[in-house]
Amino acid sequence: MSVRTLAAALTPATRAVIVVDQGGMPVDLDPIRALCDGLGITVIEDAACAAGSTYRGRPAGAGAEIAAWSFHPRKILTTGEGGMLTTRNAAWADRARKLREHAMSVSANDRHASVLAPAEEYGEIGFNYRMTDMQAAVGLVQLDRLGEAVSRRRAIAAAYRKALADVEGLRFSEDPQYGTSNFQSFWFEVLPEFP
Ligand SMILES: *Cc1c(COP(=O)(O)O)cnc(C)c1O
Repeated sequence: MSVRTLAAALTPATRAVIVVDQGGMPVDLDPIRALCDGLGITVIEDAACAAGSTYRGRPAGAGAEIAAWSFHPRKILTTGEGGMLTTRNAAWADRARKLREHAMSVSANDRHASVLAPAEEYGEIGFNYRMTDMQAAVGLVQLDRLGEAVSRRRAIAAAYRKALADVEGLRFSEDPQYGTSNFQSFWFEVLPEFP
């Protein structure tokens, strides 16, 4: 999605926009936010593929109001299953923490930390979206290795571009001017003149 294709799709009913860092390729977020912020539209970044990608010198996902991440086995950083939300909005973070834990008003952590467990309340319908500590331990090791994984993938992408350079009619995925891809996926476009 670009700000141009987005602008054409907005209607007065639009409340939120989900932009995707497709295959790890960072979306050009600033112009999209400039358009949406002015209209009171929330921008959600689907950064499921984008761990280790960068946008204007910062990690991809850092500039969205809320970003969603995936740790599915196919992703560059995996915990077997699961994912993460990141946001600077403290109220949303608090609500997400509650919703993942049956919408309990007292977290399991706080219950464990107290002598007499405080009575909890359920203000809305929640879910069991908890990540296990064992998954988190796997994720932390993966996080330490993220830089290494990204460099390896970037080197492999460069090798593909080099090896296929003589094939006519292909346009390869490359870093955009404004950022870098983790090359979780590598793709190329077959130009229309080469069906
Ligand atoms: C993998 C992926 C998802 C789904 O992630 P889950 O962990 O299965 O929820 C969503 N969006 C994009 C762009 C993805 O690559």
